[in-house]
Amino acid sequence: MTARELRAALLSWYEGAARDLPWRRTRDPWAIWVSEVMLQQTRVETVIPYWERFLARFPTLTAAADAPVDDVLTLWSGLGYYRRARLLHAGAIHVRDVHGGVVPDEPEAIRGIPGVGAYTTGAIASFAFQKPEPLVDGNVARVLCRVFGIEADPRRGAGLAEVWRRAGELVVGERPDALNNALMELGATVCAPTRPRCLVCPWREACVARREGRAEELPIRVEKAARPRAEEIALVVRHRGRLVLVQRKKQGLYGGLWEAPRVPARDVTTACEQVGRALGGVVSAEGGEGRVVEHVLTHRELHVRVFQAEIDTEPRLQANDTWDAVAVVEHAEGRAVSTLARKVLAATPDTGSARDAAGDPPPRAPARSPRRARSRP
Ligand code: SF4
Repeated sequence: MTARELRAALLSWYEGAARDLPWRRTRDPWAIWVSEVMLQQTRVETVIPYWERFLARFPTLTAAADAPVDDVLTLWSGLGYYRRARLLHAGAIHVRDVHGGVVPDEPEAIRGIPGVGAYTTGAIASFAFQKPEPLVDGNVARVLCRVFGIEADPRRGAGLAEVWRRAGELVVGERPDALNNALMELGATVCAPTRPRCLVCPWREACVARREGRAEELPIRVEKAARPRAEEIALVVRHRGRLVLVQRKKQGLYGGLWEAPRVPARDVTTACEQVGRALGGVVSAEGGEGRVVEHVLTHRELHVRVFQAEIDTEPRLQANDTWDAVAVVEHAEGRAVSTLARKVLAATPDTGSARDAAGDPPPRAPARSPRRARSRP
């Protein structure tokens, strides 16, 4: 089948198979941009309520650009990958200052927005402005590798270049928005990673992988090395019954988010000393092994032991490399906290309400001893 025939078959199939997703009902580039950023690494069902809340609070790009980044992070709370939210905010500021608050319609200009890569450029250009700009996400790469029999890892090098080239050939013509949506839909609903539903696929006659019985062998994956594992200790510190939260410095992982103090220490005594120094007081923690929270990040795995602790004085943040602010609060609700921070708070009985918000199972609780660890005065 030619590219033209493939396009026609795919568009015809899409007319009857498209899911009714809220961001497909708009051509507002801001709403589309937000949806595409949220959908990276996150399931459609999870994104929908976040997207609706976000646009209710920030109906225009300028509204988001004018707001403090903390407000953006608060609305992102629980969605994960917070760097996306920071970049979205930075991108909105760029468009407000450089393009007068109007998202540009030319792909080159869209690509120049901070945090907007090739995929998001394709999404904004085609969905909002009907430009014939390709996009490739994991679903699209899988479909293209199978249909065209691409024998290289589509995440890098020659394989990456080849899937973008193929996507570029297909998107040329009328209705580039529908074509890109259809490609993603095919990958999401028919050409699944395992057990693709080839019988109902509009490209079954053309598909190299189906013809050769190799659908589940493609795409090729060149395995990466195992993620390194980091060990940390989190202290759920209280002062006179109230919770002590710290805000991480803007740069780096979880930048700007609030959490229970968490340090890369191997024993709780050292952790108490580090946190006590940063908060200007004596921190003492429960004994035992703590409660274990495991958290997987893109590039590493965190093994966090969580202890309840107390501080003997009103905390005042001292000069340190990790946190920008401290707050003593009744609970964490209403603040921008990461999923990891929710898990940590949910690990201690007194902050159990965070467990519901995190949606995670309660962590393992090893036997405790009555000993308490203390920081040095
Ligand atoms: Fe995927 Fe099967 Fe369609 Fe090929 S025929 S694109 S393997 S669903």
